[in-house]
Amino acid sequence: SKFQSVGLVIGVTGIVGNSLAEILPLSDTPGGPWKVYGVSRRPISVSFRSITEGLAVEHIQCDVSDPDDAFAKLSPLTDVTHVFYVAWANRIVEAENRQVNSAMLRNVLAAVLPNAPNLQHVCLQTGRKHYLGSFESLGKVKAHEPPFREDLLRLDCPNFYNDLEDILFEEMAKRDGTVTWSIHRPTTIFGFSPCSLMNLVLTLCAYAAICRQEGAPLKWPGSRVVWEDFSDASDADMIAEHQIWAAIDPYAKNEAFNCSNGDLFKWKQLWQLLAREFNDLEDILFEEMAKRDGTVTWSIHRPTTIFGFSPCSLMNLVLTLCAYAAICRQEGAPLKWPGSRVVWEDFSDASDADMIAEHQIWAAIDPYAKNEAFNCSNGDLFKWKQLWQLLAREFGLEWVGYEGEEQRFKLVDAMKEKEGLWEEIVAEHELAPTRLEEVGNWWFVDAVFGVEEVHLDSMNKSKEHGFLGFRNTVSSFISWIDKMRAYKIVP
Ligand code: NDP
Repeated sequence: SKFQSVGLVIGVTGIVGNSLAEILPLSDTPGGPWKVYGVSRRPISVSFRSITEGLAVEHIQCDVSDPDDAFAKLSPLTDVTHVFYVAWANRIVEAENRQVNSAMLRNVLAAVLPNAPNLQHVCLQTGRKHYLGSFESLGKVKAHEPPFREDLLRLDCPNFYNDLEDILFEEMAKRDGTVTWSIHRPTTIFGFSPCSLMNLVLTLCAYAAICRQEGAPLKWPGSRVVWEDFSDASDADMIAEHQIWAAIDPYAKNEAFNCSNGDLFKWKQLWQLLAREFNDLEDILFEEMAKRDGTVTWSIHRPTTIFGFSPCSLMNLVLTLCAYAAICRQEGAPLKWPGSRVVWEDFSDASDADMIAEHQIWAAIDPYAKNEAFNCSNGDLFKWKQLWQLLAREFGLEWVGYEGEEQRFKLVDAMKEKEGLWEEIVAEHELAPTRLEEVGNWWFVDAVFGVEEVHLDSMNKSKEHGFLGFRNTVSSFISWIDKMRAYKIVP
């Protein structure tokens, strides 16, 4: 077989299962190359499939709480070398948790241990509640004094983690120590899975999204201690690495390990980060302005595609088109339109950079423009097929317009490996030294020219508030090309 190890992940769609599914098949994972079986009770849901489809995992739908189903689906996996047990069921009441979780682990081991002759190691994931007590008894039993060490005695209260450990030891004994085990005790796990019973980060994102939808602030629901004292967490990918390490390394055999990130944080820090992630720029502006009680005013300016000069911009459309045209000329090729029919022949609008500056200066000065959001476009319309002909003329090129969907292409692809040509152009025309990736924002042109419908805005609000500025877009286009030439940015 081309595989050195065969992993069986019980709970593959869960918060750590998903990390194992991503990490195990990687070419540099210890113990590899790994073949991976992944078990979950539910089918991979449609929304989740797109993610898991890319993973090199053989999915097995199996309810491991059902002994027959577990035996039928898992006993045939005779090539399994390592088991990663990262599943659980939550019955709320600890007595029921003990029952169902014990049955699940037993059923898995009963199906695999006698039938997988090459089995070497079983990883069992439990958690910090080993030291704190079950959810049910949290706060009711006296927990150990932190920091928690693996060798602390068990707490005197029912906890399904203890049952899982005992079942593991019992079953391992049946294979006379030839199969090793490790126990992994993460704390709050930060990870990806949308199928997890306890995905804290996902839950916080859902909460933040609902607050934003309601226009409400992100209110902290918890205790003072959690808000302002130190906390720690366990990254799901790191837990997966920890388990893979224990599965492979002889020095990690038959031991229980804590499994946390190794640093500390405060929830009040992460809370601010979360709030920021779910704030858009406008909200941040409003929030900050509110701190000055309206003594500082604001304005928001919403241009469309900007025609301007800067050779340092991430999105300079005119410059990018000049670079494209210069490369076409250098290759003796015509100026081919890469985009959609709509952008080629329907109306577009643009925003001249000088006019945006005037608009902002107006709003900064004029009392009538305070605390308002404004569109900011030239006030006329054009068609790209007109500007395209102008661009071709400026560079002395033949041009080709929109010629059907099959003829469309992306500049990102077409301009690959043209760096050398640009160097030639720069040298021949004694241009200011630039690299092609600085002057060619290909992705941006692809995005603007790839649009499939007409997007126009209205300048009425600006006019009503007293801004009457405008630009002739055709003149604007040519004037920026002239300026770039004057500064020897383009030939
Ligand atoms: P998750 O809840 O993220 O995932 C559980 C996985 O098990 C899912 O893939 C689920 O898929 C599968 N599963 C559940 N029941 C069955 C079943 N009957 N048959 C087959 N598959 C099943 O797991 P966690 O990683 O969170 O939990 C593992 C352990 O880690 C638990 O002991 C937990 O207490 C502990 N832990 C978790 C923390 C966290 O923050 N999440 C923190 C610290 C410890 P499906 O639902 O489709 O069956």
